[in-house]
Amino acid sequence: MPLVTTRQLLDEAAKGGYGVGAFNVNDMEQIQAIMEAAKETNSPVIIQASRGARQFAQDNYLYHLMLAAAELYPQIPLAMHLDHGNSFETCESAIKLGFTSVMMDGSLKADGKTPATFEENVEVTKKVVDYAHERGISVEGEIGVLGGIEDGHGAGGSGLDHVTDPDQAVEFAERTGVDSLAIAIGTSHGAYKFTKKPDGSVLKMDLLIAIHKRLPSTHLVMHGSSSVPKDLQDIINQYGGKLKETWGVPVEEIQLGIKNGVRKVNVDTDNRLAITGAIRKVFVETPEKFDPRDYLKPARAAMQKVVAQRMTQFGQAGHASDYTAISIADMAKGYADGTLVTKPLVAAK
Ligand SMILES: [Zn+2]
Repeated sequence: MPLVTTRQLLDEAAKGGYGVGAFNVNDMEQIQAIMEAAKETNSPVIIQASRGARQFAQDNYLYHLMLAAAELYPQIPLAMHLDHGNSFETCESAIKLGFTSVMMDGSLKADGKTPATFEENVEVTKKVVDYAHERGISVEGEIGVLGGIEDGHGAGGSGLDHVTDPDQAVEFAERTGVDSLAIAIGTSHGAYKFTKKPDGSVLKMDLLIAIHKRLPSTHLVMHGSSSVPKDLQDIINQYGGKLKETWGVPVEEIQLGIKNGVRKVNVDTDNRLAITGAIRKVFVETPEKFDPRDYLKPARAAMQKVVAQRMTQFGQAGHASDYTAISIADMAKGYADGTLVTKPLVAAK
């Protein structure tokens, strides 16, 4: 299938009542792992790249790998998404390259570290929305600030420092016209999210539910939503790693989110853990090996297993053949004539 927009994937997910995993990539093996998992489970999927990934892989390599994925898996609806764009220019360059959706993370200033004001966030996000929609490309915004740091992006600190205010979320959605909205409910980027199994004091699912009640048709996005399972941590440590004990977002909390408007779930750390564990195992068990394929193959297989599991848990499995791609040109028409305006935006009181 040609690359589709995240907006179409998420509209379909809302109709079907499921969530779609958005998995981060830096290289070919990760893209291969995701596509094989999508094929195995018959899932639509979002593949996303951060600024760090674009720098690491170079834009043209990434883009052509994504085109190869679309070509090799014509049955899979696939969106290519920019994760945490830090400025209008970053989003613009991704759109020019061929990304089918972008995130404008205006919750932080362009340095990717300092929290921005609400007005600054609205202004830059609206500018990206106008530019993107004219070209048929969808936009994710963020209101509230996630905790932690990923690929050098983030304010650091706890996920509870700047949780989303529901009134601001409503105003932000109204003024920017974003297709989807990332909210801060206590989650953080990276492996070290929580120091114990999270409960309502640190993971604010009640806040998510309150926002969904006010914005019933807005696709909500959960960032920092790796579950950081103990078995993946254990494999790394068993083979010489030194991870400190940590907790992620339990899958059942994500599933509760999906019942309450969450349509996109960002997962990166779990895949990183799976890859590293598999590689360490080969290095420790067979130190005589030196062909990169000897460890990249099990690493890719380990990531595929985690991705397939998440696809099943999020409910996207089995939904790849529900629909055909809407062209980017037709998406642009839909934005221009108002058919793609989110309705009803704000719930009647
Ligand atoms: Zn994120």
